Amino acid sequence: MAQTKILLDESEIPTHWYNIVADLPNPPAPPLGPDGKPVSPDALLAIFPEAIVMQEVSAERWIPIPDPVREALTMWRPSPLVRAHRLEAALGTPAKIYYKYEGVSPAGSHKPNSAVAQAYYNREAGIRRLSTETGAGQWGSSLALAGQMFGIDVRVYMVKISYEQKPFRRSMMETWGAEVLASPTNLTESGRQILAQDPNSPGSLGIAISEAVEEAASRKDTNYALGSVLNHVCLHQTVIGLEAKKQFEKIGEYPDMVFACCGGGSNFAGTAFPFLADKAAGRNVRLVAAEPTSCPTLTRGHYAYDFGDCVGLTPLMLMYTLGHDFVPPGIHAGGLRYHGDSPLVSQLVKEGLVEAVAVSQIPTFEAGVQFARSEGIIPAPESCHAIRACIDEALACKASGEPKTLFFNLSGHGHFDMAAYDRYFRGELEDYAYPEAAIHAALDRLPKVAAG
Ligand SMILES: *Cc1c(COP(=O)(O)O)cnc(C)c1O
Repeated sequence: MAQTKILLDESEIPTHWYNIVADLPNPPAPPLGPDGKPVSPDALLAIFPEAIVMQEVSAERWIPIPDPVREALTMWRPSPLVRAHRLEAALGTPAKIYYKYEGVSPAGSHKPNSAVAQAYYNREAGIRRLSTETGAGQWGSSLALAGQMFGIDVRVYMVKISYEQKPFRRSMMETWGAEVLASPTNLTESGRQILAQDPNSPGSLGIAISEAVEEAASRKDTNYALGSVLNHVCLHQTVIGLEAKKQFEKIGEYPDMVFACCGGGSNFAGTAFPFLADKAAGRNVRLVAAEPTSCPTLTRGHYAYDFGDCVGLTPLMLMYTLGHDFVPPGIHAGGLRYHGDSPLVSQLVKEGLVEAVAVSQIPTFEAGVQFARSEGIIPAPESCHAIRACIDEALACKASGEPKTLFFNLSGHGHFDMAAYDRYFRGELEDYAYPEAAIHAALDRLPKVAAG
């Protein structure tokens, strides 16, 4: 069985990013300051370059991709769209399954799509140093790569438990010239505050964000870069969905359903938002965000204003949240362990334009292994969530006889996650649902402002 790959050439890399804000039924709720009043974009200039702040608040539908960013993207883009013939056969489904493969980037995931844009705008603004956080190491390695491409020094606060469990991601960041610290550190006020409460804190993304933001806010030569959640990151990732639409057009197909896994939301946004533009124009397409049952932000979180970090240094954002002091259980899909979610993705879920499903750990790895055994690529544990949701739909098609066209984004490969696969094969993984009591308790700790 020959593989069907739908390829584009470099000239077909999008020239503009797509901004969903232009097509939202309701305007997004503004981020709020500690006084409960909307934050002025100026306040963000302490840690972001002006071009990024403009994108963060823009309502323009199309935003041009600067040439140096497009050139950087040619290192791995356009990424292939693949028809998963062998997976379809293994499932015995009448559904057609397509996936787009973002693991072709040097860091092995979709994250460099935004990292190169952020590094570029910071360099243009005269910034020479970026601080950031990373969970499993995917974002840190992407920004390290982008920093190297655009001549910017990168310091990464890496969640301590991942720092210890994922030494090779750390080596990757160091290979691309970044400095990597295990967070919480004693170098920041935020880190010291956490360590005073719990000297053995395993860290969390929320804590690492506090440290990185604090550093950027306190140094003139340093800005901050975030790998997901914010509007500009979602925007940069739309190259995925825009390319996919072109690829479907080439073969005269269009998906009935689009799946992507969702941590902070940029991977989902990048994949699904360009299709949402068609939905807004009346086309029938279902968009499904897949998250873990151990961190069920969209499916069980509160839709409320909350901080983006643990300590409360960021503006308040209206989003689904499990509470900013959420410290997740150590499941392996490190990239999906954030307490909140993109305000744009959250709003679309709230308004019923996007569906969310939660899948648990063992069936997720089952899906990943089935995918690897039929399509060859070993998926990142995060991506396995989208594969699970897509396979479940393909099996429903088998039961109903409906030949739907299904599309998912394969956000990255799992070559640095083989220890998690090992644990799955040894039967050491558990299915874990985040307890209802903990979800309820988080309500009391949400900052007190009137929610949307
Ligand atoms: C980080 C990561 C995700 C989650 O991305 P978000 O944009 O934060 O939702 C998904 N897949 C892979 C491979 C990742 O590295």
